Amino acid sequence: MTPREVLALCREREIHAVDLRFMDFPGTPKHFTIPIKALTENSFEDGFSFDGSSMRGWQAINESDMLVVPQPETAVVDPFFDSTLAVTCNIQDPITREDYAKDPRNVARKAELYMKSTGIADTAMFGPEAEFFLFDDVRFDSNEHESYYHIESAEGQWTRGKAGENGNAGYKIRYKEGYFPVPPTDTLQQVRTEIMLKLEACGIEVEGQHHEVATAGQCEIDMRYAPLLQTADNLLRYKYVVKNVAARHGKTATFMPKPLWNDNGSGMHLHLSLWKGGETLFAGSGYGGLSDLATFAMGGILKHAPAIMAFCCPTTNSYKRLQPGFEAPVNLTYSYRNRSAAIRIPVHSPHVNNKRFEFRCPDSSSNPYLAMAAVLMAALDGVQNRIEPGEPLDKDIYDLGPDELKDVPKVPRSLEESLDALRADHEFLLRGDVFTEDVIDTWIWYKTEHEVEGLRQRPHPYEFAMYYDI
Ligand code: GLN
Ligand code: MG
Ligand code: MG
Ligand code: MG
Repeated sequence: MTPREVLALCREREIHAVDLRFMDFPGTPKHFTIPIKALTENSFEDGFSFDGSSMRGWQAINESDMLVVPQPETAVVDPFFDSTLAVTCNIQDPITREDYAKDPRNVARKAELYMKSTGIADTAMFGPEAEFFLFDDVRFDSNEHESYYHIESAEGQWTRGKAGENGNAGYKIRYKEGYFPVPPTDTLQQVRTEIMLKLEACGIEVEGQHHEVATAGQCEIDMRYAPLLQTADNLLRYKYVVKNVAARHGKTATFMPKPLWNDNGSGMHLHLSLWKGGETLFAGSGYGGLSDLATFAMGGILKHAPAIMAFCCPTTNSYKRLQPGFEAPVNLTYSYRNRSAAIRIPVHSPHVNNKRFEFRCPDSSSNPYLAMAAVLMAALDGVQNRIEPGEPLDKDIYDLGPDELKDVPKVPRSLEESLDALRADHEFLLRGDVFTEDVIDTWIWYKTEHEVEGLRQRPHPYEFAMYYDI
Protein backbone atom coordinates (compact mmCIF):
# COMPACT_ATOMS: atom_id res chain seq x y z
CA MET A 1 0.00 0.00 0.00
CA THR A 2 1.12 3.55 -0.71
CA PRO A 3 0.43 6.42 1.74
CA ARG A 4 -2.41 7.53 -0.53
CA GLU A 5 -3.93 4.02 -0.47
CA VAL A 6 -3.67 3.95 3.33
CA LEU A 7 -5.59 7.21 3.56
CA ALA A 8 -8.21 5.87 1.13
CA LEU A 9 -8.57 2.74 3.29
CA CYS A 10 -9.05 4.97 6.34
CA ARG A 11 -11.90 6.82 4.63
CA GLU A 12 -13.49 3.65 3.36
CA ARG A 13 -13.37 1.89 6.74
CA GLU A 14 -14.26 5.04 8.71
CA ILE A 15 -11.04 4.98 10.70
CA HIS A 16 -10.90 7.46 13.62
CA ALA A 17 -7.65 6.49 15.32
CA VAL A 18 -4.21 5.42 14.09
CA ASP A 19 -2.13 3.19 16.32
CA LEU A 20 1.61 3.56 15.74
CA ARG A 21 3.48 0.38 16.69
CA PHE A 22 7.04 -0.81 16.94
CA MET A 23 8.99 -3.44 18.83
CA ASP A 24 11.30 -2.25 21.58
CA PHE A 25 14.88 -3.47 21.94
CA PRO A 26 14.25 -6.52 24.18
CA GLY A 27 11.25 -7.55 22.03
CA THR A 28 8.00 -6.24 23.51
CA PRO A 29 5.43 -4.54 21.25
CA LYS A 30 4.90 -0.80 21.98
CA HIS A 31 2.42 1.73 20.67
CA PHE A 32 0.86 5.16 20.88
CA THR A 33 -2.23 6.47 19.12
CA ILE A 34 -3.09 9.59 17.12
CA PRO A 35 -6.45 10.84 15.83
CA ILE A 36 -7.05 10.25 12.13
CA LYS A 37 -6.83 13.96 11.30
CA ALA A 38 -3.15 13.91 12.32
CA LEU A 39 -2.33 11.40 9.57
CA THR A 40 -1.52 12.91 6.17
CA GLU A 41 0.52 11.74 3.22
CA ASN A 42 3.47 13.67 4.68
CA SER A 43 3.27 11.73 7.96
CA PHE A 44 4.84 8.74 6.23
CA GLU A 45 7.94 10.92 5.65
CA ASP A 46 7.88 13.25 8.64
CA GLY A 47 6.99 10.73 11.36
CA PHE A 48 5.83 11.49 14.91
CA SER A 49 8.03 12.17 17.92
CA PHE A 50 8.25 10.18 21.15
CA ASP A 51 10.55 9.88 24.16
CA GLY A 52 13.32 7.40 23.32
CA SER A 53 14.80 7.57 26.83
CA SER A 54 11.79 5.74 28.24
CA MET A 55 12.52 2.68 26.10
CA ARG A 56 14.65 -0.10 27.54
CA GLY A 57 18.21 0.02 26.20
CA TRP A 58 17.68 2.99 23.88
CA GLN A 59 18.48 6.69 24.33
CA ALA A 60 19.92 8.72 27.22
CA ILE A 61 17.70 11.42 28.71
CA ASN A 62 19.66 14.26 27.07
CA GLU A 63 19.10 12.85 23.59
CA SER A 64 15.67 11.42 24.17
CA ASP A 65 13.65 12.77 21.22
CA MET A 66 13.09 10.12 18.56
CA LEU A 67 10.72 9.66 15.65
CA VAL A 68 8.40 6.85 14.64
CA VAL A 69 7.93 6.75 10.88
CA PRO A 70 4.85 4.75 9.82
CA GLN A 71 5.42 2.20 7.05
CA PRO A 72 2.39 2.21 4.74
CA GLU A 73 2.76 -1.41 3.57
CA THR A 74 2.20 -2.62 7.15
CA ALA A 75 -1.14 -0.84 7.70
CA VAL A 76 -4.12 -2.99 8.78
CA VAL A 77 -7.43 -2.34 10.46
CA ASP A 78 -7.01 -3.38 14.10
CA PRO A 79 -9.17 -6.46 14.78
CA PHE A 80 -9.91 -5.46 18.41
CA PHE A 81 -10.50 -1.72 18.60
CA ASP A 82 -13.25 0.13 16.75
CA SER A 83 -12.26 2.29 13.80
CA THR A 84 -8.56 1.92 14.51
CA LEU A 85 -5.78 1.46 11.98
CA ALA A 86 -2.54 -0.21 13.14
CA VAL A 87 0.72 0.72 11.41
CA THR A 88 4.21 -0.61 12.10
CA CYS A 89 6.90 2.06 12.27
CA ASN A 90 10.61 2.55 11.74
CA ILE A 91 12.56 4.55 14.29
CA GLN A 92 14.64 7.57 13.22
CA ASP A 93 16.82 10.25 14.77
CA PRO A 94 14.90 13.56 14.36
CA ILE A 95 18.07 15.61 13.72
CA THR A 96 20.10 13.45 11.35
CA ARG A 97 17.02 11.64 10.01
CA GLU A 98 19.07 8.47 10.02
CA ASP A 99 17.43 5.15 10.76
CA TYR A 100 18.15 4.28 14.39
CA ALA A 101 20.83 1.59 14.77
CA LYS A 102 19.10 0.06 17.82
CA ASP A 103 15.70 -0.20 16.14
CA PRO A 104 15.32 -4.00 15.73
CA ARG A 105 13.35 -3.48 12.51
CA ASN A 106 16.28 -1.54 11.10
CA VAL A 107 18.65 -4.42 11.95
CA ALA A 108 16.33 -6.82 10.10
CA ARG A 109 16.13 -4.52 7.08
CA LYS A 110 19.91 -4.18 6.97
CA ALA A 111 20.33 -7.96 7.18
CA GLU A 112 18.15 -8.32 4.06
CA LEU A 113 20.10 -5.58 2.27
CA TYR A 114 23.40 -7.15 3.22
CA MET A 115 22.24 -10.55 1.93
CA LYS A 116 21.37 -8.98 -1.44
CA SER A 117 24.72 -7.16 -1.57
CA THR A 118 26.61 -10.45 -1.21
CA GLY A 119 24.92 -11.79 -4.34
CA ILE A 120 24.29 -15.09 -2.54
CA ALA A 121 20.51 -14.73 -2.39
CA ASP A 122 17.84 -12.07 -2.75
CA THR A 123 15.28 -13.47 -0.30
CA ALA A 124 15.54 -15.26 3.04
CA MET A 125 12.30 -17.09 3.79
CA PHE A 126 11.48 -17.74 7.44
CA GLY A 127 8.62 -19.88 8.76
CA PRO A 128 8.27 -19.55 12.56
CA GLU A 129 6.48 -21.93 14.93
CA ALA A 130 5.90 -19.69 17.92
CA GLU A 131 4.53 -21.82 20.75
CA PHE A 132 2.91 -20.32 23.85
CA PHE A 133 0.86 -21.21 26.94
CA LEU A 134 -2.62 -20.07 27.90
CA PHE A 135 -3.24 -19.99 31.64
CA ASP A 136 -6.34 -19.18 33.64
CA ASP A 137 -4.89 -17.82 36.80
CA VAL A 138 -1.39 -16.52 37.15
CA ARG A 139 -0.50 -14.07 39.87
CA PHE A 140 2.78 -12.32 40.20
CA ASP A 141 4.01 -8.86 40.85
CA SER A 142 5.94 -7.54 37.90
CA ASN A 143 7.29 -4.78 40.10
CA GLU A 144 10.95 -5.71 39.96
CA HIS A 145 11.42 -5.20 43.69
CA GLU A 146 9.25 -8.23 44.36
CA SER A 147 11.19 -11.44 44.53
CA TYR A 148 8.88 -14.08 43.09
CA TYR A 149 5.65 -15.02 41.38
CA HIS A 150 3.09 -17.72 41.87
CA ILE A 151 1.21 -19.79 39.30
CA GLU A 152 -2.05 -21.05 40.71
CA SER A 153 -2.38 -24.73 40.01
CA ALA A 154 -5.08 -27.33 39.93
CA GLU A 155 -2.79 -29.84 41.64
CA GLY A 156 -1.76 -27.42 44.35
CA GLN A 157 1.90 -27.43 43.35
CA TRP A 158 3.35 -24.01 42.86
CA THR A 159 5.43 -25.19 39.92
CA ARG A 160 2.47 -26.30 37.84
CA GLY A 161 0.13 -24.08 35.85
CA LYS A 162 -3.60 -24.23 35.98
CA ALA A 163 -4.81 -24.54 32.42
CA GLY A 164 -8.04 -24.26 30.54
CA GLU A 165 -8.49 -27.99 31.20
CA ASN A 166 -9.33 -27.26 34.81
CA GLY A 167 -12.71 -28.42 36.08
CA ASN A 168 -12.89 -31.22 33.53
CA ALA A 169 -11.26 -33.97 35.51
CA GLY A 170 -12.64 -36.83 33.38
CA TYR A 171 -11.08 -35.48 30.22
CA LYS A 172 -7.90 -33.99 31.52
CA ILE A 173 -4.85 -34.01 29.29
CA ARG A 174 -2.40 -36.63 30.55
CA TYR A 175 1.22 -35.78 31.19
CA LYS A 176 2.87 -35.00 27.83
CA GLU A 177 -0.19 -36.06 25.88
CA GLY A 178 -1.34 -32.59 24.90
CA TYR A 179 -0.59 -33.10 21.21
CA PHE A 180 -3.81 -33.33 19.17
CA PRO A 181 -6.64 -34.50 21.53
CA VAL A 182 -10.04 -33.29 20.26
CA PRO A 183 -12.51 -31.36 22.47
CA PRO A 184 -13.71 -31.70 25.16
CA THR A 185 -10.21 -32.80 26.25
CA ASP A 186 -8.79 -29.88 24.29
CA THR A 187 -10.66 -26.97 25.84
CA LEU A 188 -8.77 -24.28 23.97
CA GLN A 189 -10.09 -24.99 20.49
CA GLN A 190 -12.37 -21.94 20.40
CA VAL A 191 -9.64 -19.54 21.58
CA ARG A 192 -7.06 -20.81 19.09
CA THR A 193 -9.52 -20.74 16.19
CA GLU A 194 -10.45 -17.18 17.07
CA ILE A 195 -6.75 -16.25 17.12
CA MET A 196 -6.27 -17.97 13.76
CA LEU A 197 -9.18 -16.07 12.17
CA LYS A 198 -8.07 -12.73 13.62
CA LEU A 199 -4.56 -13.31 12.23
CA GLU A 200 -6.02 -14.03 8.81
CA ALA A 201 -8.09 -10.85 9.11
CA CYS A 202 -4.80 -9.00 9.65
CA GLY A 203 -3.42 -10.44 6.42
CA ILE A 204 -1.29 -13.13 8.09
CA GLU A 205 -1.62 -16.44 6.29
CA VAL A 206 -2.02 -19.25 8.83
CA GLU A 207 -1.08 -22.87 8.10
CA GLY A 208 -2.85 -24.38 11.09
CA GLN A 209 -3.34 -24.39 14.84
CA HIS A 210 -3.20 -27.13 17.48
CA HIS A 211 -2.74 -27.93 21.14
CA GLU A 212 0.91 -28.71 21.90
CA VAL A 213 2.47 -31.51 23.94
CA ALA A 214 2.58 -29.90 27.38
CA THR A 215 -0.20 -30.91 29.75
CA ALA A 216 -1.44 -27.47 30.65
CA GLY A 217 -2.68 -25.24 27.87
CA GLN A 218 0.25 -25.22 25.44
CA CYS A 219 -0.66 -23.96 21.96
CA GLU A 220 0.87 -23.55 18.53
CA ILE A 221 -0.40 -21.52 15.60
CA ASP A 222 1.79 -21.62 12.51
CA MET A 223 1.98 -18.89 9.93
CA ARG A 224 3.11 -19.42 6.37
CA TYR A 225 6.74 -18.66 5.58
CA ALA A 226 7.55 -15.19 4.25
CA PRO A 227 10.62 -12.99 3.76
CA LEU A 228 12.53 -12.11 6.95
CA LEU A 229 11.21 -8.58 7.56
CA GLN A 230 7.64 -9.55 6.80
CA THR A 231 7.86 -12.57 9.12
CA ALA A 232 9.20 -10.39 11.94
CA ASP A 233 6.38 -7.88 11.35
CA ASN A 234 3.93 -10.79 11.37
CA LEU A 235 5.31 -12.02 14.71
CA LEU A 236 4.91 -8.55 16.23
CA ARG A 237 1.24 -8.74 15.28
CA TYR A 238 0.95 -12.42 16.25
CA LYS A 239 1.92 -11.74 19.87
CA TYR A 240 -0.56 -8.86 20.00
CA VAL A 241 -3.43 -10.94 18.58
CA VAL A 242 -2.67 -14.01 20.78
CA LYS A 243 -2.54 -11.92 23.97
CA ASN A 244 -5.66 -9.94 23.16
CA VAL A 245 -7.87 -12.87 22.16
CA ALA A 246 -6.68 -14.69 25.30
CA ALA A 247 -7.55 -11.65 27.44
CA ARG A 248 -11.04 -11.55 25.95
CA HIS A 249 -11.51 -15.15 27.10
CA GLY A 250 -10.35 -14.31 30.62
CA LYS A 251 -7.05 -16.08 29.97
CA THR A 252 -3.48 -14.95 29.91
CA ALA A 253 -0.97 -15.94 27.22
CA THR A 254 2.73 -16.32 27.85
CA PHE A 255 5.60 -16.70 25.39
CA MET A 256 7.99 -17.41 28.27
CA PRO A 257 10.00 -20.46 27.12
CA LYS A 258 9.65 -22.65 30.22
CA PRO A 259 6.81 -21.64 32.52
CA LEU A 260 6.36 -25.17 33.93
CA TRP A 261 9.12 -27.23 35.40
CA ASN A 262 9.26 -30.84 34.13
CA ASP A 263 6.95 -30.31 31.16
CA ASN A 264 7.61 -29.22 27.56
CA GLY A 265 8.60 -25.61 27.08
CA SER A 266 7.71 -23.26 24.23
CA GLY A 267 10.05 -22.95 21.28
CA MET A 268 9.99 -20.81 18.17
CA HIS A 269 11.52 -23.14 15.61
CA LEU A 270 12.61 -21.22 12.53
CA HIS A 271 12.31 -22.85 9.10
CA LEU A 272 14.80 -21.21 6.76
CA SER A 273 15.42 -21.23 3.01
CA LEU A 274 17.35 -18.86 0.73
CA TRP A 275 16.02 -17.85 -2.67
CA LYS A 276 17.25 -16.07 -5.78
CA GLY A 277 15.22 -14.87 -8.77
CA GLY A 278 12.11 -16.65 -7.46
CA GLU A 279 13.86 -20.01 -7.11
CA THR A 280 14.99 -21.82 -4.01
CA LEU A 281 18.72 -22.32 -3.53
CA PHE A 282 18.16 -25.06 -0.96
CA ALA A 283 17.07 -28.08 -3.00
CA GLY A 284 19.87 -30.40 -4.09
CA SER A 285 21.25 -33.87 -3.91
CA GLY A 286 23.17 -33.67 -0.64
CA TYR A 287 22.15 -35.01 2.76
CA GLY A 288 18.39 -34.66 3.31
CA GLY A 289 17.91 -33.41 -0.25
CA LEU A 290 19.75 -30.18 0.48
CA SER A 291 22.09 -28.26 -1.83
CA ASP A 292 25.72 -27.50 -0.96
CA LEU A 293 24.69 -23.93 -0.26
CA ALA A 294 22.07 -25.08 2.27
CA THR A 295 24.61 -27.43 3.86
CA PHE A 296 27.09 -24.57 4.32
CA ALA A 297 24.28 -22.38 5.71
CA MET A 298 23.70 -25.11 8.34
CA GLY A 299 27.44 -25.15 9.00
CA GLY A 300 27.42 -21.40 9.67
CA ILE A 301 24.44 -21.62 12.01
CA LEU A 302 25.91 -24.56 13.99
CA LYS A 303 29.32 -22.86 14.24
CA HIS A 304 27.88 -19.56 15.50
CA ALA A 305 24.97 -21.08 17.43
CA PRO A 306 26.30 -20.25 20.91
CA ALA A 307 26.71 -16.57 19.90
CA ILE A 308 23.41 -16.17 18.03
CA MET A 309 21.57 -17.88 20.86
CA ALA A 310 22.16 -14.64 22.81
CA PHE A 311 19.44 -13.34 20.43
CA CYS A 312 17.49 -16.54 19.73
CA CYS A 313 17.30 -17.78 23.34
CA PRO A 314 17.70 -14.40 25.00
CA THR A 315 16.26 -14.90 28.48
CA THR A 316 17.46 -16.60 31.63
CA ASN A 317 14.37 -18.79 31.32
CA SER A 318 15.33 -19.91 27.76
CA TYR A 319 17.98 -22.29 29.12
CA LYS A 320 15.48 -24.06 31.38
CA ARG A 321 13.76 -25.18 28.15
CA LEU A 322 16.96 -26.56 26.59
CA GLN A 323 17.04 -29.76 28.65
CA PRO A 324 16.93 -33.38 27.44
CA GLY A 325 13.56 -35.12 27.23
CA PHE A 326 11.29 -32.24 26.20
CA GLU A 327 11.71 -32.09 22.40
CA ALA A 328 14.04 -29.12 22.76
CA PRO A 329 17.59 -29.30 21.36
CA VAL A 330 20.58 -29.81 23.61
CA ASN A 331 23.22 -30.93 21.07
CA LEU A 332 24.50 -28.66 18.33
CA THR A 333 24.14 -31.06 15.45
CA TYR A 334 21.79 -31.69 12.52
CA SER A 335 19.70 -34.54 11.26
CA TYR A 336 17.22 -35.56 8.59
CA ARG A 337 14.00 -36.15 10.41
CA ASN A 338 15.31 -36.33 13.96
CA ARG A 339 13.62 -33.81 16.25
CA SER A 340 16.23 -34.04 18.97
CA ALA A 341 18.92 -32.23 16.92
CA ALA A 342 19.42 -28.45 16.90
CA ILE A 343 18.80 -28.48 13.16
CA ARG A 344 16.23 -30.80 11.60
CA ILE A 345 15.61 -31.27 7.88
CA PRO A 346 11.89 -31.99 7.59
CA VAL A 347 10.99 -35.09 5.59
CA HIS A 348 7.79 -33.69 4.16
CA SER A 349 8.93 -31.45 1.31
CA PRO A 350 6.46 -32.36 -1.44
CA HIS A 351 7.87 -29.73 -3.76
CA VAL A 352 11.49 -28.51 -4.19
CA ASN A 353 10.25 -25.08 -3.10
CA ASN A 354 9.47 -26.55 0.32
CA LYS A 355 13.10 -27.55 0.86
CA ARG A 356 14.28 -25.98 4.06
CA PHE A 357 15.85 -26.78 7.38
CA GLU A 358 14.51 -26.03 10.80
CA PHE A 359 16.68 -24.35 13.45
CA ARG A 360 15.07 -25.55 16.68
CA CYS A 361 16.97 -23.56 19.31
CA PRO A 362 15.08 -20.24 19.07
CA ASP A 363 12.21 -19.59 21.45
CA SER A 364 9.32 -17.17 21.55
CA SER A 365 11.01 -14.85 24.07
CA SER A 366 13.33 -13.59 21.35
CA ASN A 367 12.98 -10.32 19.51
CA PRO A 368 12.10 -11.79 16.09
CA TYR A 369 13.78 -8.98 14.13
CA LEU A 370 17.10 -9.51 15.91
CA ALA A 371 16.87 -13.30 16.13
CA MET A 372 16.19 -13.85 12.43
CA ALA A 373 18.78 -11.25 11.40
CA ALA A 374 21.38 -13.11 13.52
CA VAL A 375 20.39 -16.51 12.06
CA LEU A 376 20.63 -15.13 8.53
CA MET A 377 24.06 -13.58 9.16
CA ALA A 378 25.36 -16.90 10.53
CA ALA A 379 23.94 -18.76 7.51
CA LEU A 380 25.55 -16.30 5.09
CA ASP A 381 28.89 -16.66 6.87
CA GLY A 382 28.57 -20.41 6.42
CA VAL A 383 28.03 -19.98 2.68
CA GLN A 384 30.79 -17.39 2.26
CA ASN A 385 33.35 -19.49 4.12
CA ARG A 386 32.08 -22.90 3.02
CA ILE A 387 31.67 -24.04 6.62
CA GLU A 388 31.01 -27.79 6.83
CA PRO A 389 28.41 -28.81 9.41
CA GLY A 390 30.18 -32.09 10.23
CA GLU A 391 28.50 -35.48 10.28
CA PRO A 392 24.74 -35.72 10.86
CA LEU A 393 23.47 -37.49 13.94
CA ASP A 394 20.66 -39.83 12.99
CA LYS A 395 19.85 -41.53 16.27
CA ASP A 396 17.60 -40.34 19.03
CA ILE A 397 20.17 -38.13 20.62
CA TYR A 398 18.49 -38.25 24.01
CA ASP A 399 19.18 -42.00 24.18
CA LEU A 400 22.87 -41.98 23.25
CA GLY A 401 25.41 -42.87 25.93
CA PRO A 402 28.01 -40.40 27.20
CA ASP A 403 30.71 -41.96 24.97
CA GLU A 404 28.75 -41.43 21.78
CA LEU A 405 27.93 -37.88 22.78
CA LYS A 406 31.22 -36.69 24.14
CA ASP A 407 32.35 -35.07 20.90
CA VAL A 408 28.99 -33.50 20.04
CA PRO A 409 29.02 -29.79 20.90
CA LYS A 410 26.34 -28.67 23.34
CA VAL A 411 24.10 -25.60 23.50
CA PRO A 412 25.12 -23.01 26.11
CA ARG A 413 23.77 -23.81 29.56
CA SER A 414 22.78 -20.27 30.49
CA LEU A 415 22.13 -16.80 29.13
CA GLU A 416 25.44 -15.79 30.65
CA GLU A 417 27.25 -18.41 28.53
CA SER A 418 25.50 -17.24 25.35
CA LEU A 419 26.36 -13.62 26.09
CA ASP A 420 29.99 -14.65 26.61
CA ALA A 421 29.90 -16.47 23.27
CA LEU A 422 28.44 -13.38 21.59
CA ARG A 423 31.14 -11.19 23.13
CA ALA A 424 33.80 -13.52 21.70
CA ASP A 425 32.17 -14.22 18.32
CA HIS A 426 30.32 -11.38 16.59
CA GLU A 427 32.48 -10.26 13.67
CA PHE A 428 30.08 -12.00 11.26
CA LEU A 429 27.19 -9.93 12.67
CA LEU A 430 28.92 -6.60 12.02
CA ARG A 431 29.18 -7.13 8.25
CA GLY A 432 27.17 -4.64 6.20
CA ASP A 433 26.75 -2.65 9.43
CA VAL A 434 23.83 -4.96 10.26
CA PHE A 435 24.51 -5.30 13.98
CA THR A 436 26.71 -2.39 15.07
CA GLU A 437 29.17 -2.70 17.99
CA ASP A 438 26.76 -0.44 19.86
CA VAL A 439 23.89 -2.88 19.32
CA ILE A 440 25.99 -5.83 20.51
CA ASP A 441 27.38 -3.94 23.53
CA THR A 442 23.97 -2.60 24.55
CA TRP A 443 22.44 -6.06 24.22
CA ILE A 444 25.11 -7.68 26.38
CA TRP A 445 24.93 -4.86 28.92
CA TYR A 446 21.13 -4.83 29.12
CA LYS A 447 20.80 -8.61 29.37
CA THR A 448 23.58 -8.88 31.95
CA GLU A 449 22.52 -6.00 34.22
CA HIS A 450 18.77 -6.41 34.11
CA GLU A 451 18.29 -10.11 33.63
CA VAL A 452 21.32 -12.25 34.56
CA GLU A 453 22.28 -10.11 37.60
CA GLY A 454 18.67 -9.25 38.33
CA LEU A 455 17.84 -12.92 38.77
CA ARG A 456 21.05 -13.84 40.53
CA GLN A 457 20.37 -11.34 43.31
CA ARG A 458 16.83 -12.44 44.05
CA PRO A 459 15.63 -15.35 46.20
CA HIS A 460 14.11 -17.95 43.86
CA PRO A 461 10.87 -19.86 44.59
CA TYR A 462 12.73 -23.17 44.46
CA GLU A 463 15.07 -21.94 47.16
CA PHE A 464 12.04 -21.72 49.42
CA ALA A 465 11.18 -25.34 48.60
CA MET A 466 14.74 -26.48 49.32
CA TYR A 467 15.75 -24.26 52.22
CA TYR A 468 12.80 -22.76 54.03
CA ASP A 469 12.72 -25.47 56.70
CA ILE A 470 16.47 -25.93 56.91
N1 GLN B 1 7.99 -27.54 22.51
C1 GLN B 1 9.15 -28.09 21.86
C2 GLN B 1 10.34 -27.16 22.00
O1 GLN B 1 10.56 -26.68 23.04
C3 GLN B 1 8.88 -28.44 20.42
C4 GLN B 1 7.78 -29.43 20.23
C5 GLN B 1 7.50 -29.70 18.80
O2 GLN B 1 7.03 -28.83 18.08
N2 GLN B 1 7.81 -30.86 18.32
O3 GLN B 1 11.09 -26.90 21.09
MG1 MG C 1 4.95 -27.42 14.66
MG1 MG D 1 5.48 -27.42 18.07
MG1 MG E 1 9.02 -27.56 14.46
